[in-house]
Order: sequence, then structure tokens, then C-alpha cells
Amino acid sequence: MAEQEWMSEVRAKVGREYGRVYAWDEVNAPMIRQWCEVMGVDNPLYLDADYAATTEFGGIVAPPAMLQAWCLEGLHMNNYAPGSTDENPYEVLKTLEARGFPSVVAVNSDLSFERYVRLGEKLYYTTRLDAVGEEKTTALGTGYFVTLIMSFFSQKPAGDAGGDERVGQLLFRVFKFRPANVPKPVEKGAAAAVPKFKRPKPGVSDDTRFFWEGVDAGKLLIQRCTCCSTLRHPPAPVCIKCHSFDWDTVEASGKGSIYSFVVMHYPEVPPFEHPNPIGLIELDEGVRLVAGLVGVKRDEIQIGARVQVEFQSFDDGELTLPMFRPIAA
Ligand code: ZN
Repeated sequence: MAEQEWMSEVRAKVGREYGRVYAWDEVNAPMIRQWCEVMGVDNPLYLDADYAATTEFGGIVAPPAMLQAWCLEGLHMNNYAPGSTDENPYEVLKTLEARGFPSVVAVNSDLSFERYVRLGEKLYYTTRLDAVGEEKTTALGTGYFVTLIMSFFSQKPAGDAGGDERVGQLLFRVFKFRPANVPKPVEKGAAAAVPKFKRPKPGVSDDTRFFWEGVDAGKLLIQRCTCCSTLRHPPAPVCIKCHSFDWDTVEASGKGSIYSFVVMHYPEVPPFEHPNPIGLIELDEGVRLVAGLVGVKRDEIQIGARVQVEFQSFDDGELTLPMFRPIAA
């Protein structure tokens, strides 16, 4: 099948190099330490200056897998370091979106390295649109594989004879597609044809059944060890304190306070309303549970705010969930 004219415009961009994106900071020990902490890496080559000094590297080097981290934009989108290009290496993806291939799934991301980078090096990368595949139909839908290659360089002082040195690359491939089996647009007045999404059901086991049966009956039940009276939630077969298997339940007052919370914005998955605030509730009895928050705007949610349980019915009575609503202190 002959390709559309717009596609030849896309193909004409293959091979294009997009400008530099600079790192905000030179390669530095604090970022390495924090990255290792988050990733659970304890290699002394990255963390222990005395040890690293005894190695062939003569000092701390950055974990290779951290390469991409140096040039990231940070917490705020498109907040790139001064001097970075304002070209958009993803412009082809935008074109595909506009032409009816809106969905995206990352299919592979391969990092490769030339060498370790050392403290004090200043990195940048450039992006090349490497390939746009032929139209393909997969289980997800019909679309195009798009491959971008980011090449990372260590910047050398102006006038350095060798020039900037390539230290690694990131190959990033996405599938831009028109989803298969998308429900056809519904005519006005045919709302009944819109598929109705139900809430996922809780996984009920022999350990948790009492809790959900309590919820169905409008009660918030907490498991209690009959040997030492320790309360526990989430439900578990054994007392964490005295290891007894014997337990009964007590009915909670349903009052508590917000110990912590998150507000889910994306992805917007039906049937949930978005933004979707979720609280970690500390009950007055002392145990905590995770539950939806109702009756509060997201910017008014306060740690420590008093809340009261209420039981809400979903999916035509198929599911009852404990939700928490702020009340006056
Ligand atoms: Zn106990």
C-alpha cells in the first residue's frame, strides 16, 4: 500500500540530529550517593572515596546505569539547563499523533557505555531520529515503531585537541499506534451503549474475609489478638507481637485522622473520578488503613485532619467500600 504524503515528510526527518541537552550539574558525589541509595547500590567504587582511590580509576566514578540521570530536566517538564536546544526531538511522535496514531508504548530502552564517567565531568546529549518502521499491526493496534538514539558526551574545554568525548548512548524505541478494538463513538442519546466500567474487587482470602463481610454490614472491623489484645491491620494470620494464631475482632469507632495521602491524577482510569484522593487513615484505635477520601478538595486535604468513615456502595450494590470524610476537629 502506498504511503500517505504526510508519511514521506516523517521519513524525510529520519537521520536528523537534534541539538544538545546539557546536564544541570557536573558529575558529582551527592547525586551519585542519592542515586545509589534509591537503587539499593552499595558498590564502594561509587561511594567510598578512599576505596575508589585505590582502584584503576583513582577516584569515585558514577554508576554507568545513571547516565541518563545527569541530563534530566528535573521535577518540572522541559526545564532544561541553560544552553540546551529548544528543538523537539519527539516532533515525529506529535505528527503521528495528529495523523491518528495517538497511543504510545515504550518497547525497548537500551543503554550502552564507552567508559565510566568521573566526578567533575560535564555531560550533554544529542538526539538522532534513527528509524521509523513500516506500518505494523500488533495485538495493541496498528502503527509505527520509532527509534531515537541519544548520544552522551563529556564536554572538553574549548580548544581541547580531542574534542568532546562520547561516553555512552541510549536507544529508545516506542510504538506509536491506533489502538485495536476502540469502542465506536456513541451517538447522542445512546448513552446506554457506553461500556460501564466497574471497580476492581478486593482480593478476599480466609484472612481478610471478616473485614469485607464487616464492610458489607456497615462495620469497620479490626483484627485483635485474643492472647495479648494487640490490634492489627491489614489482617494477617499471626500476631506480630506474641505470635499467637488466635484472634477475634473489635468494631472500630470509624473515627481517625489523615496520617498521609496521595492524589492520583493520571492515568485517568474509569470508573474512578479524577483527581482521586487516597488517604492513609490512622484510626483512633491505633491501626492504619488505606481508603478513598470523599467530601474534600485536593488542595484542602491536611495531614492530621479528623475524618469519619462512611460506607459507599458501588456498581449497583456489588461492592461496598469504607471511605473517609473530613469532619470538624
Ligand atoms: Zn498477641
